[in-house]
Amino acid sequence: MENQENSLSSTSESRDINYYSVLQCNQNSTIDEIKSNYRSLIKKFHPDKQSKEQSYSDDKFIHIDKAYKTLSDEQLRKEYDAVLLEKSFNESSLIYAELEKTGLDFDSEGVAVFPCRCGQNIEIYKSVLDDEESLIECSECTNCVLIK
Ligand SMILES: [Zn+2]
Repeated sequence: MENQENSLSSTSESRDINYYSVLQCNQNSTIDEIKSNYRSLIKKFHPDKQSKEQSYSDDKFIHIDKAYKTLSDEQLRKEYDAVLLEKSFNESSLIYAELEKTGLDFDSEGVAVFPCRCGQNIEIYKSVLDDEESLIECSECTNCVLIK
């Protein structure tokens, strides 16, 4: 039972780990930068170099190792980048919807409303028609509607 709980928590943890931040680099980093970061981190966190009290670094070491195995392989890195992209799109995409100007239905006061996923109505004013593209923010959450 205890083992089960452990494996569950480590699964959800590793899902949230960003390999780039583990290796202190970013998606633009070259393989050489990734390699050199990996080498210095692995020295710092290698379990053999830690005292027993610092067993937390075992986890750290495993993550560093896993991150490096993924990011040092061109194909795996590409796949990982695609996952990250999808993840960031799903989790923090600011654009909730794209609307065509021609599809907007303004009322007599020149306001069109769009129901945001948070439940709030996003108000779109007729002045958006003057601009090529407008980004309207929801007043209640971080979503935006792109009008073009
Ligand atoms: Zn909203």
